[in-house]
Amino acid sequence: MKNIYLDHCATTPLHPEVLEEMLPYLKKDFGNPSSTYSLGQKARKAVDDAREKVAFLIGADPSEIVFTGGGTEADNLALRGAAYAKRRNGKHIITSSIEHHAVINTCRYLEGEGFIEEKGFRVTYLPVDKYGLVNPDDVKKSINDDTILISIMHANNEVGTIEPISEIGEIARERQINFHTDAVQSVGKIPVRVEELKVDLLSLSGHKIYGPKGVGALYIRRGVSIVPLFFGGHHESNFRAGTENVASIVGLGKACEIASRDMERSAKYLAGLRDKLQAGINKGIEQAHFNGHPTRRLSNILNLSFKFIEGEAILLNLDMKGIAVSTGPACTSGSWEPSHVLMAMGVDRTLAQGSLRLSPGMGNTDEDIAYTIETLVEVIKRLRYMSPLSTAVDKNNNGKSPGRI
Ligand code: PLP
Repeated sequence: MKNIYLDHCATTPLHPEVLEEMLPYLKKDFGNPSSTYSLGQKARKAVDDAREKVAFLIGADPSEIVFTGGGTEADNLALRGAAYAKRRNGKHIITSSIEHHAVINTCRYLEGEGFIEEKGFRVTYLPVDKYGLVNPDDVKKSINDDTILISIMHANNEVGTIEPISEIGEIARERQINFHTDAVQSVGKIPVRVEELKVDLLSLSGHKIYGPKGVGALYIRRGVSIVPLFFGGHHESNFRAGTENVASIVGLGKACEIASRDMERSAKYLAGLRDKLQAGINKGIEQAHFNGHPTRRLSNILNLSFKFIEGEAILLNLDMKGIAVSTGPACTSGSWEPSHVLMAMGVDRTLAQGSLRLSPGMGNTDEDIAYTIETLVEVIKRLRYMSPLSTAVDKNNNGKSPGRI
């Protein structure tokens, strides 16, 4: 049985060098970084070293990095933290309709779906074009005197489209509005420099870059006010109370160091695999619709919709053949609702339900891609043959189904 993992946008395996680096902190170097004796200070140094590596990867100062329990927490800290800090200045937030649920659901909460006392923020969810791009002019037009925060993701996690962040950053700076970007998918894949992007807040996560799960970081530009989510000790410059998850933070630091070192080579390798996958699928399967931007995209995501069939059926059939892919973000898979991202891009509803996200990683080979193409062609052929939708078209088309391949 094959075991081909093509869902690196959902999570990545731990890099062996990351594991090596983490192990001592799970064993003998278990000290609390807040303790003043040497065992504690060793842990403190490890956390500070990791902070430097994260900062280096994104062009920030180490003092601007706050460790969190992952990308979701970083997004929550950015949005809720910045919104509460500025609530006396205004109550309007601008975001996009294709954000990850960590941002969208935080915005919904801020709008008043949470506790009554937190009611009162107003959120504009900007549309995107057919490629998934936010128009900076739309951001400009949506700003009013009440606007206190803009949050637009750097690269989309379903289709890989890279947003015009520095253009939006320029607009936000001109109006002195805090600007957050969720860079969970872009960090480590493309160059991310906070000054070039002109962002005030930026979220990243360990497990998307061959680091551990449950650890991430929020970049908070010096001088930006944030109200913490938790209260307790004075950890993380008072932005995030709680004893640091030392081993995972060390792992995140190492993952960032590896990303800084290998990014260019990895991006080239992954783009090669993705392009072979795309070419093979296009050659072998009719009516495979590409979703996303043809050039402004991450090197490791390929999103396609297959007419006449459900993405979930394709996923399960591929799983039986030892191939792991997804129909969209891991947290919504299993639901029959089509992806909010594809819907916002104007993809037809039934086509959106037949979508698949393939995301190769550094462990994949040309053989994996060849096997995946061959298997996918066979699975789509069989599913389309069984599909009532495909048969209906068949009859209307004198037996020549566009669904048959
Ligand atoms: N933001 C984006 C764009 C993501 O893709 C993800 C994870 O899929 C997250 C946020 C959440 O990150 P985490 O899984 O570390 O909480």
